[in-house]
Amino acid sequence: MQRRTLLSCATLFTAAATGGVTSSLMAKTPENVNPSAANPLFLNFNENSLGMSPAARRAMLDSLARANRYPDAVQAALTGAMGDFYGLAPDNVAMGNGSAEAIQAAFQAVVHDARTSGEPVQLIVPSPTFICAEFYARSEGVPVVKTALTKECLVDLEAMNEAARRFNGRSVFYICNPNNPTGTTLDTAALAAFIKAAPANQFFIIDEAYAEYVRRPAFESMITLVRAGYKNLVVTRTFSKVYGLAGLRVGYALSEKDTARKVRAFLSLGNINGVAASAALAALKDRTFVEKSLAATELSRAILIQTLKALNLRYVASETNFMLHEVKGSMSAYVKAMAQRHVIVGLEYPPLTGFNRITLGSPEEMRYFCALLKTFRKNGLL
Ligand code: PLP
Repeated sequence: MQRRTLLSCATLFTAAATGGVTSSLMAKTPENVNPSAANPLFLNFNENSLGMSPAARRAMLDSLARANRYPDAVQAALTGAMGDFYGLAPDNVAMGNGSAEAIQAAFQAVVHDARTSGEPVQLIVPSPTFICAEFYARSEGVPVVKTALTKECLVDLEAMNEAARRFNGRSVFYICNPNNPTGTTLDTAALAAFIKAAPANQFFIIDEAYAEYVRRPAFESMITLVRAGYKNLVVTRTFSKVYGLAGLRVGYALSEKDTARKVRAFLSLGNINGVAASAALAALKDRTFVEKSLAATELSRAILIQTLKALNLRYVASETNFMLHEVKGSMSAYVKAMAQRHVIVGLEYPPLTGFNRITLGSPEEMRYFCALLKTFRKNGLL
């Protein structure tokens, strides 16, 4: 059933090609990409292959001179800057050691609340999705309900709602939008209406780790609901993706003030180190680097799609810096063969079997990867 679901949606999306892709995309040879055992090409964790903003790098190096001091001032400056950036107050912001920590804290805050009032609590997640919330639920002994995606490969809000209705207690919804690993987004109005209409025993963690990549004007962040004062959600975001600071671990949750206070109570004190906070502050201001990264991702996506079409491999049309694409034949043999060429590709995400999630690296990296795909086809590996 799951397999059939994906096949139909992948077929659908294969037809919906990005327009204007020409063979000129492949014209440049990827001479700067030369992966080796010591320097593999990482296309597995959806990082930014362009690196980080030069301004962020400078700020990070400058901040080393102050690393003997606790970073309260720069942490406060970053919290304030995040609030300003989104038209919110610092009280609406909970900074995390990566958005993973912000998700953990938000989840623990709701679980604590539910348990304090003697209510059972469950987590509802789409399947497949990013593992984070499920991981924390298992540590807390909270049951996890998984709902299948729709035939369009979208998070099925109705199925999630049904799972909540069947449960006599508090439900936490983890909704990754865009979803990882599909890279698809939900209809903004439908998601907002769902959250607005939710009863008091439902809480939403909206993970927008990849929202910056979505360029469709109809896409809107659920931060609008935070601004409107809804208390039943947090929206999490990160500096790990388009800002290129994955190794520094900076993310955050945005929520209404009372909710944010509860989330902060579950964060480690002083969780953002001064070097990371300095880099994030500078990265936030460098819109040129962000735009450059987004443009590179769009080009990389076009390069990949062109090759997938040429090889008649299906894919799910992603709005992010990664894409699920079909692998014909053995997935483990494919991943291993890539690794032997020092290219570290992503995983298969059951129940969507037969597809691998690949990170859209730089255009040069994608040309290299696409050339490899073609070789694999010739060698019967794909
Ligand atoms: N959310 C999603 C959907 C992700 O894919 C990731 C990492 O890949 C994260 C959250 C965690 O990111 P970080 O903790 O680096 O902010």
